[in-house]
Amino acid sequence: MIVVMKKSATKEEISNVEKMLSDLGFKTHPITGEVKTVIGAIGDKRQVNMQSLSHMPGVETIVPIMKPYKLAGRELKQDPTIVEVGDVKIGGREIIVMAGPCAIENEDIYMSTALEVKKAGAKILRGGAYKPRTSPYSFQGLEEEGLKILSRAREATGLKIVTEVVDTRDVETVASYADILQIGARNMQNFRLLKEVGMIGKPVLLKRGLSATIEEWLMAAEYIIAEGNPNIILCERGIRTFETATRNTLDISAIPVIKELSHLPVVVDPSHAAGTWKYVNSLSKGAVAAGADGLIIEVHFDPSTALSDGPQSLKPVHFTQLMKELEPVAHAVGREI
Ligand code: PEP
Ligand code: MN
Repeated sequence: MIVVMKKSATKEEISNVEKMLSDLGFKTHPITGEVKTVIGAIGDKRQVNMQSLSHMPGVETIVPIMKPYKLAGRELKQDPTIVEVGDVKIGGREIIVMAGPCAIENEDIYMSTALEVKKAGAKILRGGAYKPRTSPYSFQGLEEEGLKILSRAREATGLKIVTEVVDTRDVETVASYADILQIGARNMQNFRLLKEVGMIGKPVLLKRGLSATIEEWLMAAEYIIAEGNPNIILCERGIRTFETATRNTLDISAIPVIKELSHLPVVVDPSHAAGTWKYVNSLSKGAVAAGADGLIIEVHFDPSTALSDGPQSLKPVHFTQLMKELEPVAHAVGREI
C-alpha cells in the first residue's frame, strides 16, 4: 500500500508512520516528492488497523497498490527515475549510448575499440568479462583479467563501464570494478543473483529474459528494488518469437508499455535483437523514436575476428555514422544525444 503524507507533514510524523509500519513487519520505502512524501509499505496488510493508521498525524490517505510490482511501478512513484552513474544520467533528456565489444578479448583490441566509441560520442563502455555462452566450448571470457582491462579503459577514456555478472559468487568482484552491473537475459530470473545485486547498491542494467513477459521483467526489477537498490535500467534486447530472419524480435512496443507501467529508465540493445550488424542502424533509430532512454550497442574494431557476436557487431566507422544519424531522430522526439 501507499501511505500518502500531507503536504504539511513533519519529518517526525513521517518517521513515526514508518516506525509503526516497520514494527508491524512492513518494509517501508519513503519517496520524497517535490510537494509531498509518500511511503510505500510492503507487507501483510492484515497486520494493520487501517483506521488507526489513517488517523495518525500527518497521514492524508492510504492507497492500495494493485500491480504485483509495487516498487517498480508508477502507482507508487510517478516521477521518472533518473539513474546517475557519476555525471552520466540515464532517464533524463539525454539519450545515453553505451558501446563496445561483446567480450573483452585482449587489451589492445579493447582499447582501440574504446577510444573509437568515445570519439563517436558513447558515454559508457560495454564489454563482457564473464560470458554466458550457449555452448560450453565457446570463449567464456577473461574473468578478472578482463575487469582489469575494463578499468584501464575507463582510465584511458574517462567513460563509465558496464559489464555482466553471471554468478552470485562474483558480484563483489565485478562490483569493485564496474560502474553498472549487467544482468543478462539468461539470468533475468536468477532470483538469488537479483537479490545480491540489490544489496550491492550499484546501478544495474537488467536485460529482459529471452521469453519473459513485461510483467515478469518488472517483477525481476522488483527483486532488486526490494533489497534497497532502486538504480535499475531496464534493457529490451529482443525476445524469442517464431521469426527466424533476425536473432530475436525487437519488441519496440515494450518501450511505451514500460514507460506507462514503470518509472524506471529503459534502454534498447539492437545488437542482440538483430543478430546482424546491418539491421542495427534501423533498430537503433526506431528505439530512440519510440522513447528509449538509451542504447547499448556492440562495436568491435575488427568484427571478423571477434570471439563472440562478431556478426552483429558494428565496425567503428558504422557506429560513428549511426551516432550522427541518431541526432535528428533524438531531436524530433525532444531529446538530446
Ligand atoms: C551481452 O550483452 O553480450 C549478452 C550476452 O546479452 P543478452 O544477455 O541480452 O543475451
Ligand atoms: Mn553479445
